[in-house]
Amino acid sequence: MEQSIKQVVIVGGGSAGWLTAALIAAEHRSDRPGNLQVTLIESPDVPAIGVGEGTWPSMRDTLRRVGVSETEFFRQCDASFKQGTRFRGWVDGDIGHHYDHPFVLPEGYTEANLVAQWRRQHAQRPFAEVVCFQSTLCDVGLAPKQPQTPEFAAVANYGYHLDAGKFGVFLRQHCIDKLGVRHLLDHMDGVNAADNGDIASLSTRLNGLLEADLFIDCTGMASLLLGQHYGIPLRSEREVLFNDSALAIQVPYPRDDTPIASQTHSVAQKNGWIWDIGLPTRRGVGYVYSSAHTDDEGARSELLAYLRASGAPEELAEPRQLRFAPGYRETLWHRNCVAVGLSSGFIEPLEASALALVEMSATMLAEQMPATRADMVLVAERFNRAFRYRWSRVIDFLKLHYVLSTRDDQRYWREHREPGSIPDRLLEQLRLWRYQPPSRYDFSQIEEMFPSASYQYVLYGMGFEPAHASERGSDRPAVAEQFFRQAADLGARMARALPSNRTLIEHIHEVGLTRI
Ligand SMILES: Cc1cc2nc3c(=O)[nH]c(=O)nc-3n(C[C@H](O)[C@H](O)[C@H](O)COP(=O)(O)OP(=O)(O)OC[C@H]3O[C@@H](n4cnc5c(N)ncnc54)[C@H](O)[C@@H]3O)c2cc1C
Repeated sequence: MEQSIKQVVIVGGGSAGWLTAALIAAEHRSDRPGNLQVTLIESPDVPAIGVGEGTWPSMRDTLRRVGVSETEFFRQCDASFKQGTRFRGWVDGDIGHHYDHPFVLPEGYTEANLVAQWRRQHAQRPFAEVVCFQSTLCDVGLAPKQPQTPEFAAVANYGYHLDAGKFGVFLRQHCIDKLGVRHLLDHMDGVNAADNGDIASLSTRLNGLLEADLFIDCTGMASLLLGQHYGIPLRSEREVLFNDSALAIQVPYPRDDTPIASQTHSVAQKNGWIWDIGLPTRRGVGYVYSSAHTDDEGARSELLAYLRASGAPEELAEPRQLRFAPGYRETLWHRNCVAVGLSSGFIEPLEASALALVEMSATMLAEQMPATRADMVLVAERFNRAFRYRWSRVIDFLKLHYVLSTRDDQRYWREHREPGSIPDRLLEQLRLWRYQPPSRYDFSQIEEMFPSASYQYVLYGMGFEPAHASERGSDRPAVAEQFFRQAADLGARMARALPSNRTLIEHIHEVGLTRI
């Protein structure tokens, strides 16, 4: 048990595998002899999933940490800026109605009761538009920074839209060239147990036995190590979040200079919702739906109708079909094996939380890498506790979008509101939020998945009616009004100063951003 941890093997070369390799190798300076060694094996026969085009702002920090250039990232990954999500048709099915979940916090968020004053004086205008400036930028397709803003710095908080396939290739090159990650293009075809039940080695087709102290399972939905070798079950969340299928398609722009949307669009459908993402060279569109509520042909017709209405060309490739079992593994780290990415679980990509969970898992692994096998027991316990909590917060937050919808035309939407399908903790919070807005008291962990502001954007964006508006802090309406004015002023000033998304991306391709 005192054996020190010197070798890490990651199985899988999708986004999860390469992000994990990069974060661990960068933290441990694996390019230097004698330091922790990171080996990544990926099968030439099993392709990475190749979807996952929306990230959180946390990705900026991740990319900076592993030492890539943001300019090169934009150039090589067909990346664009993402400033949040616009939800259309979610409230009652009217596609003309939208609300925003922006990445910027409300102005003066912790200093005034913005909700009470918004309800009293401004409720005819969308909450996000009154309390924050980012909707104004997104309305007209603006970038979140100026050409002279350095790499990774922001005027308005942002994440990315990207081409998942290109992102994997980009990270792989960086890991091999700069971070000292050893790469094996080989198929793992067996897991060999040690006497104590740990994984001793992996059998591979071309490279014989692969030994390590810690094995990271990034094998995607197959979950070959944690799921199949150890038999750690997937906790199903199908009764809470019904979606288990997707149809994804790449859609060309009508013209080279078509504006690039500044946020993900999420458009409610009869039995699910459609994501619509703008990259510099194309849109990425997909319908996420529940196979218990519609068949694939029905979903395909809905997707095609959406594409036609949104100006897509008549001739398109066939959409790609994807399936998933909504759920996660409650034990994510077992013995000397930890799962990161789809191997640990997957729930519909409504708030693009999958890559964020990968970043958090890999960062914790990198920073808390146990020194010895004995320490691994403690670190694994903490890791499991932290991620069990995070998975359940993701589930609560996604479910919130469905619970608040008043859409009545389909069984899918009605069943989403049945109390038996709503997690207890979310039900409790909804009760509390009738009398007080979501606040930091509801989310007390250091690294929460979603801050209370995100809950406010969704609750009030979707028209949640409190029993009575909390009057606490509302004796100072002038303070809240001052923050509303600040949001409006910032929006107006930024709208004059910021380039369009496309203009800034073209600048990055041609000239580049200043490195910090
Ligand atoms: C429809 C859909 C939409 C999504 N949208 C988003 C989004 O907007 N934002 C977001 O954050 N996430 C999104 N995701 C999730 C995102 O795609 C994944 O979290 C991310 O791509 C990580 O995948 P992965 O690396 O875990 O698995 P994969 O990409 O499946 O990679 C698995 C790897 O394991 C390797 N492998 C498998 N078997 C073996 C073997 N025997 N030997 C060696 N290697 C092996 C394969 O070669 C491959 O390299 C979406 C997912 C789906 C299904």
